[in-house]
Amino acid sequence: MSQPKPSLDPFQLKEWQLKIKTANRNNIFCHCHHCGYEWIDSSFEASCPNCDSTKVERISCWQFPDD
Ligand SMILES: [Zn+2]
Repeated sequence: MSQPKPSLDPFQLKEWQLKIKTANRNNIFCHCHHCGYEWIDSSFEASCPNCDSTKVERISCWQFPDD
């Protein structure tokens, strides 16, 4: 007799958290306040590739609302 499966077991939860982490790491929307350049980066530490300014606004892509 098989046991009923929980909707999210610890292994699935771990994998899900890893996926979010990975998505977050590779999808950070950056906007340079100095020159207005916009790009997608994988680091919260990166400076603007256009003007090298560190006045950069960073938003994780998954935080954008759907509509
Ligand atoms: Zn810039």
